[in-house]
Amino acid sequence: MTDKQLVIIGSGPAGYTAAIYAARAGLVPLVIAGSVTAGGDLMTTTEVENFPGFPEGVQGPELMESMRAQAERFGAEVLYDDVETLHIEPRRHRITTALGAEYTATAVILATGSAYRELGLAEEKNLSGRGVSWCATCDGFFFKDQEIAVVGGGDSAVEEATFLTRFAKKVSLIHRRGELRASKAMRQRAEADPKLEFVLDSEVTAIHGADKLEGLTIASTADGQTRELPVTGLFVAIGSDPRTALFAGQLDLRPDGYLVVEGRSSRTSAEGVFGAGDVIDPVYRQAITAAGSGCVAATDAEHYLSELS
Ligand code: FAD
Repeated sequence: MTDKQLVIIGSGPAGYTAAIYAARAGLVPLVIAGSVTAGGDLMTTTEVENFPGFPEGVQGPELMESMRAQAERFGAEVLYDDVETLHIEPRRHRITTALGAEYTATAVILATGSAYRELGLAEEKNLSGRGVSWCATCDGFFFKDQEIAVVGGGDSAVEEATFLTRFAKKVSLIHRRGELRASKAMRQRAEADPKLEFVLDSEVTAIHGADKLEGLTIASTADGQTRELPVTGLFVAIGSDPRTALFAGQLDLRPDGYLVVEGRSSRTSAEGVFGAGDVIDPVYRQAITAAGSGCVAATDAEHYLSELS
C-alpha cells in the first residue's frame, strides 16, 4: 500500500489540467490514467478546432499528449492502469487497480468523464469523425451547406438540431415517437425553423458509407416501412452516461447520474473528494470546460490539503 497526498482518476483534459496545477503547487499527484482509454475522449477524434491557443486546430491525440507532457514536466506521475475499487474514507481513501497496485490518498480528484450513448449500429464507430458525431458545438462548422440528420427527441437533440441549421442546408430531426420530449418552448422554436424537418415515428436502422457518411436507412416505428435518407452528417443526441460506477453509492449523484459538486467548487459530498470535467457537467461537456474544472479541483484539493497540515 503506497500513501499519496493526491490521486487523480482520469487523464482527459480535466485530469491532466488538475495534474498540471497540482504538480506546480508541489503536490506530486499520481494520475491513474486508465489503460486503453488513457487521454480520454479526445483520443478518439481527429481535428479539434475550438481549443484556444491553436489557430490552425490540433489533432485530439496530439493535444492530450501535450497535456500529459506538461503535467509530467512539473512532477506528476502517470500510471496507465484502471482503478478497480475506490473506498471513500476521510483522509485515507483506498484505491486498488486492475494491475494490482494499492494506494491510500488524502485527497482524490475524480475526472472520469462521461460517455455519449450510441445507436449501436454497424459503421457508427467507423464513421465517427467522418460524418457521424455526438457534438454539434464541436463539429457543426464542418457541415456548411450540407444535408444532415439529428437523432433524438429531448431538449438537447432539439437544441442541437436548431443550432445546426446555422450551418446546414437542411436538418432532419429523427425521433422514434410521434411527439418530441423537448420542452414546449424548445419545440416551438424548432417548428418555426424553415431548415428543420421532423421525421417522427422513425428510427435509423442502418448507416451507410465506407470512408465517409453517405446516407441512412430509416424505418417507420408504426409500420416498419423503410426509406433511404441521403445525408452527409449524423448527430447522435440520445443522451450520455457519466462514468460513476466507481463511487455510486458513496457520493451524492444527481437524478441523471452526474456527480454532485457544491456550487462553483469541485467539492463532492465526501471530505477530500473533488470532481472535475464531464462527470460533473451534463450541460457544457467541452474540452475547455473540462480543463477549467480540472484547475478548480486542483485548487480546491490544494486548499484542503494545506488546511490539514
Ligand atoms: P474524458 O476526456 O472523457 O476522460 C475521462 C478519463 O477518465 C479517461 O482518461 C479515462 O481513461 C478515465 N477513466 C474513467 N474510468 C476510469 C477508471 N476506472 N480508472 C482509471 N481511469 C478512468 N470537445 C471539444 O471541446 N472540442 C472538440 O472538438 C471535441 N470533439 C469531440 C469528439 C469526440 C468523438 C468526442 C467523444 C468528444 C469530443 N469533445 C470535444 C468533448 C471532449 O472530448 C470532452 O468534453 C472532454 O474530453 C471531457 O474531458 P474529461 O477530462 O472530463 O473526460
